[in-house]
Amino acid sequence: MEKAWVEARFHDIEENYKIIKDKIAEAAIKSGRNPSDVRLMGVTKTVESIYINHALDLGVDLIGENRVQEFLGKRDELKLDGVEKHLIGHLQTNKVRQIVGEVDMIDSVDSVKVAAEIGKQSLKRGIITDVLVEINIGGEDSKFGIDPSAILDNIYQMSEIDGIRINGLMAIPPICDDDKENCKFFANMYGMFLDIRAKKLDNVNMNILSMGMSGDFENAVREGSTMVRVGSSLFGRRVY
Ligand SMILES: *Cc1c(COP(=O)(O)O)cnc(C)c1O
Repeated sequence: MEKAWVEARFHDIEENYKIIKDKIAEAAIKSGRNPSDVRLMGVTKTVESIYINHALDLGVDLIGENRVQEFLGKRDELKLDGVEKHLIGHLQTNKVRQIVGEVDMIDSVDSVKVAAEIGKQSLKRGIITDVLVEINIGGEDSKFGIDPSAILDNIYQMSEIDGIRINGLMAIPPICDDDKENCKFFANMYGMFLDIRAKKLDNVNMNILSMGMSGDFENAVREGSTMVRVGSSLFGRRVY
């Protein structure tokens, strides 16, 4: 890799990071929230380790990877001291064994079946795995996640599983042309988050509401997100 090119991209990441943090703070303040209540996750899929490490040097302390194999393949090259690592992509049951114990949280739990497998593999290792439950808030066929109408029933079932701890919800809403539509999905998520929290179920803490990506994280913050997942706006457009 040419040095000048790498440095130019380092510079871009640094600028992007500042802009994103400012935008999060501004959206939080505008909606009467505290900027420190919103965490920024750097989404590192397809990003080379050298650039991820640069972001970690800048202060990014939470990363999300989509694929088990990709994460396990590059993590030895990463400066992960003090950095929280989450799996955010769809997890197949047969891959659970490989990732339990390797990340701090699995944010993409989209069925009771996968939750049960995470519990089973966690107990084998003598640990409890922190998870988020993914909701298919737009009811899209193309997306994973639990249907909003089934969420309570699913959360009840998951709350009985040993070896996992539910920490909140995650969602990827449909791409919307206008902010109003976009905000409606986020507001629905926030409503569900509060409803479930109010039930005070054993083994269910509703502390994290992970929603908002490069194109819509400001809307998500205004509607109550506590964790935004930003990839391309931070690292640059993904080319593969
Ligand atoms: C890729 C991805 C993101 C980040 O998307 P950008 O639009 O690049 O910010 C966030 N969440 C999930 C689950 C993703 O797969």
